[in-house]
Formats: sequence, C-alpha cells, structure tokens
Amino acid sequence: MAITLDALPYAYDALEPYISKETLEFHHDKHHAGYVNNTNNLSKDTEFEGKKLEYIILNAKGGLFNNAAQSFNHSFYWRCMSPKRTAPSAKLQAMIEHSFGSMEQFKESFIASAATLFGSGWTWLIQDGDELAIINGSNAYTPILDHKKPLLVCDVWEHAYYIDHRNARAKYLEGFWSLINWDFVSSNLD
Ligand code: MN
Repeated sequence: MAITLDALPYAYDALEPYISKETLEFHHDKHHAGYVNNTNNLSKDTEFEGKKLEYIILNAKGGLFNNAAQSFNHSFYWRCMSPKRTAPSAKLQAMIEHSFGSMEQFKESFIASAATLFGSGWTWLIQDGDELAIINGSNAYTPILDHKKPLLVCDVWEHAYYIDHRNARAKYLEGFWSLINWDFVSSNLD
C-alpha cells in the first residue's frame, strides 16, 4: 500500500495571522504532497514498495530516505500546531522545568536553536528517558532514525515562512511559538 498524504488537521486559514492560507496551501499541497509522491514513486518495484513509512526511513538511503523522512516530519509538524489555545500538561511542564529550568528558558533555547540552524532543517524537542532535549537536524533529519522520541518539531526550511516573512525566520518562530499544540506535545510523552 502506498503511503498517503494526511489532510491538514485544521482549515488552511486557521493559523492566520501567524501562518497564512497561501503558505499552508503551498507547504501542504505542494511541498508535503511532493515528498509523499516521490516516496511512492521511488519505492515502486523495489523492496520498499508497500512497506510502512517508518520501515522506509530506517532502511532506505539517498533520495528515498529524504522523501520518506520529509513525509513523516511534515505530518508530525502539522499536528504540532493548533488554532486553539492549549497549555502543557502538568507532567510536561514538570519535565520542561527539570530539563531547562523554566518554560521561559525552554522557549529561549528552542527559538535560539531554530534561529541558528544553518540552511534547511528541523528543530526538535525529544524525550530521552527522564530528560528532554532540543536537537537541530539538517535537511530531512528525523529523530526516529536514532530511535529518539519526538515531542515537538518546528520546520525551519525557508518554504515554511518565505511567503509570509521573506528571510525573517525570527518572526516566523515567534508566530510558531504561539501556535504550538501543547495537547499534542504532552500526548507524545512516554
Ligand atoms: Mn516543510
């Protein structure tokens, strides 16, 4: 069975004014859809045809790995945002305070990591046992490759913000922060 493109979990204009309808139309319907189509096309008539996305990510190399990982990362990214105001669960709040000192320090570190990621990539919050950590990954990097548990991700490829903010990644990051779906992030904890 081919892998499929998840629908956005909200309307295209639901994240305005932080992320525009036009950005979501391009980002989901062109970029994300392209990664899904490429994954299916590159899997065809190979040992990867019909395999689950995670299997492809863990075993494929080169273009197939890149497109499969980008398919997973985008599905995860959409769910990390919500037009609804949410708050971290008590457990997540306690783990953030344990690992970063405070929510404010976590926000500063996460945004600084995303702002300084050179080129294209993703900034992740991952869980490693009792600890949380922020990691930057270039291009199609995904933490499931290293068997790390993703909780939150921000897409810092230029296609995520160029229509709305041109080169001003920091403005996109501030907007992203106010859209974080803390219910989803909290639900990803072990
Ligand atoms: Mn993207």
